[in-house]
Amino acid sequence: MNSIFSGLENVGFKDTDNLTLYKKEELQELETQHKNFSLLYKKTVTCPVCENTFKQLALKSNSYRMISKDSDFFIRYDLINPYFYDVYVCEHCGYSALKVDFNKITERQKELVKTNVSQKFKSRTYPESYTREIAIERYKLALLNATYINSKAGTKAMICLKLAWMYRLGDSDKDKELERTFLTSALEGFEFAFSKESLPIYKMNTFLLMYLIGEINRRLGNYNSSLNWFSRVLTTPGVSSTLKDLTRTQRDLIKESQMLEEKLKNKDIIESNINLDNDMESNKSQVTINKIKNPNKGILAKILKK
Ligand SMILES: [Zn+2]
Repeated sequence: MNSIFSGLENVGFKDTDNLTLYKKEELQELETQHKNFSLLYKKTVTCPVCENTFKQLALKSNSYRMISKDSDFFIRYDLINPYFYDVYVCEHCGYSALKVDFNKITERQKELVKTNVSQKFKSRTYPESYTREIAIERYKLALLNATYINSKAGTKAMICLKLAWMYRLGDSDKDKELERTFLTSALEGFEFAFSKESLPIYKMNTFLLMYLIGEINRRLGNYNSSLNWFSRVLTTPGVSSTLKDLTRTQRDLIKESQMLEEKLKNKDIIESNINLDNDMESNKSQVTINKIKNPNKGILAKILKK
């Protein structure tokens, strides 16, 4: 008998083998909450719009650890995700912005918040630690505020980029689609900021922004635009060798993708020919099966070998 309740048969409890002391999911959730509690604290913030104070969850110093960095500067963290706590939301008037921008608001913009946001805003109680879904809601509130108060394109682009990163953390097709949507909006804003607004923005100088615009274009499959931006990085004097190396790596990925696409196109033609004797339907399915049997990685390896 493996049950932890064995031995209670004499007092009437025989069917206790399938009883679970803790439900696994609940336990994991409790563990995460407990872990997050010890990494977070409540910071008192004064809203520059309505001048009320409110409590905001913030991370204790050294409470997070970087694991890796994506090629568009998204940092993946261990322990707790600092991006989840990147937006301040005033629970009184609804004014929301990235933490670094929260106090950078003009008198005119304060009026715009009162007119466009505060009148509609309904406060909600947030839990003691945030999830990806809550982070998305808060970034969207910041984006809505930034839109109403006519923030700089660079500000809105950065919020869009961070929203894209939050969707990247998800697994579903919908998440992937929304990541692209927000990358597209971020790209539009960064391109405008590059030509019309003063740099640096969010610690990004001209070179870093050129690279980022190239990289977002690459991720969206806009290869020609991406190659143009990467080439600007590589030919501009004063760019660090680290950034040039990164740019070359990402540029080479485009070349590999293009070779792969070409190879797949030829492969389809060849396979279609092989199956000419079959009827149309079986011909189609044969091509599909062959594609599944040969995932991109294998073909890429073959190309690289040649
Ligand atoms: Zn407020």
